Amino acid sequence: MKNYNVGVIGATGMVGQRFITLLADHPWFNLKVLAASSRSAGKPYREAVGAKWAMRTPIPAKAADIIVKDAEKDMEEIAASVDFVFCAVDMPSEEIIALEQGYAKLECPVVSNNKEHRYFNDVPMLIPECNAEHIAVIETQKKRLGTKRGFVAVKPNCSIQSYVPALHPLREYGLKTVLACNYQAISGAGKTFETWPEMVDNLIPFIKGEEQKSEVEPMKIWGEVRDGVIVNAAEPLITTQCLRVPVSDGHTSAVFVKFDKKPSKEAIIKAWAEYKGEPQRLNLPSAPKQFLNYFEEDNRPQAKLDRDLEGGMAVSIGRLREDTLFDYKFVCLSHNTLRGAAGGGVLAAELLAAKGYFER
Ligand code: NAP
Repeated sequence: MKNYNVGVIGATGMVGQRFITLLADHPWFNLKVLAASSRSAGKPYREAVGAKWAMRTPIPAKAADIIVKDAEKDMEEIAASVDFVFCAVDMPSEEIIALEQGYAKLECPVVSNNKEHRYFNDVPMLIPECNAEHIAVIETQKKRLGTKRGFVAVKPNCSIQSYVPALHPLREYGLKTVLACNYQAISGAGKTFETWPEMVDNLIPFIKGEEQKSEVEPMKIWGEVRDGVIVNAAEPLITTQCLRVPVSDGHTSAVFVKFDKKPSKEAIIKAWAEYKGEPQRLNLPSAPKQFLNYFEEDNRPQAKLDRDLEGGMAVSIGRLREDTLFDYKFVCLSHNTLRGAAGGGVLAAELLAAKGYFER
C-alpha cells in the first residue's frame, strides 16, 4: 500500500477545505501540513478557518488542531516535511507562479488547482481518464527547473470536465465542431447559497474568463507529447457559453457536435459504456468504476439525481433536428465536488503516486 505525507497550501480556502475533507480518510495520503497566508499562520486550523468552514461535514479531527503554517515564509520547512503538496490559493498570478515553482525547486512536487501553470507545455494538465500519458513531460520540466523530483502538475478548469470526457472516446470519428453550453454550479465558484444569496432564483450568463478557458484547455488535453512537450490539438473548433446556475453541486453541459464521420447512436453508447482510462485500469482509490454512465433522454442527467456515480459522469443523447449544422446533441453532467476542483486534484495525485512520481 502507498503512503505519502501531504501538505495543503491554501488550506483555509474553499478548495483547501474540500481537499481536507477528501483527504481525511484517504488510503494513500496522510494529511500532515496545512498552510495559508500570514493571516492564518500560527493558529490551530479550527481557529484559522473559523466561520469560513463551508463543508457539509465537520472539520475532520485530524485537521482541527494542526497549527497552520505560512505558505511563503515556512516554505523550506514544509517542503522538507511532506512528500508533495496540493495548492489552491488566491494570490496575484506572478506570486502563484513563484510559490509553486518555489516548492518544486525545493524538490517538493505540487499538484495545483490554480490556473497559472496550465499553459506551460511541460506541465501536465490532467483529466486522468483522458490524458494520463501527458505526465511524461514532467521529465522535461524537471530539466527546466533543475530538479530531481520537484515539479508542478495541474488540473484544468472544472467547466471542461462537464463535456470533454464525454467527447473523448468519440475522437476516432473526427470531432470537427463543438458548441458547449455549460450550466455551472455555485460550488465551482467557491460559493454556497449562504455566502451567495443573490444566486437563489437567479442565473448569471457571464463568468469572467471562463469561456476562453473552456475553449482553449481541451486543445491541451487532446494534445500529444512530442519531443518531451505537449503540442496542442488543432481540432475541433470549440465555442462555449458558460452560465452560473442556482445549483449547489454538479456542472451540466449541452454539447452540440459535428463529426468527420458521423457515428451511429449505438456506436456512441457502446464507446461510452466500454471506455476505461488509466484510473480504472490502475484501480485508483478515487476512480469511479464506470466513468461514463449512459441515461436515456427522458431520464437525463440532473444535478439532484446523479450524485451516486462515485465521481463518474452522466451522459445522454438529446433530441436534434435532422437538417441542422450538428450531428448530435449530448447532455452531460459531472460531479464537480468529486471531479471538479479538489476531487480532480486528488485523482491526479493518485495517478502520479501510482506511477512513482512521489518516490524519494
Ligand atoms: P479562497 O476560498 O479565496 O481561498 C484562498 C486561499 O488562499 C486561502 O487559504 C488563503 O489563506 C490563501 N492565501 C491567500 N493569500 C495567500 C498568501 N499570500 N500566501 C499563502 N496563502 C494565501 O479561494 P478558492 O475558491 O479556494 O480558490 C483557490 C484557487 O483554486 C484559485 O486559484 C481558484 O481559481 C482555484 N480554483 C480552481 C478550480 C478548479 O476546478 N480547478 C475550482 C475552484 C477554484 P488565508 O485564509 O490565510 O487568507
